[in-house]
Amino acid sequence: MSYYDKEFYEFHDDDSADSCFLCSQNSSQLFVVRHVKSEKMVHLCQDCMLNNLSEYLLDNTRPWTSKKE
Ligand SMILES: [Zn+2]
Repeated sequence: MSYYDKEFYEFHDDDSADSCFLCSQNSSQLFVVRHVKSEKMVHLCQDCMLNNLSEYLLDNTRPWTSKKE
């Protein structure tokens, strides 16, 4: 992640790139979403994302960063 990305895509302090922000599961498929309340980016597993659609937004305005790429 570049410095430019960090400025606009600040991740939540408690977020980890390797596990879900909510359930802490080490999912094979994590989504980068924006936590509406804090406006910070977090990683969510599919289940948590679907269960909290009102609180987290998919942010597709910029390419997602992923270790798998
Ligand atoms: Zn989860």
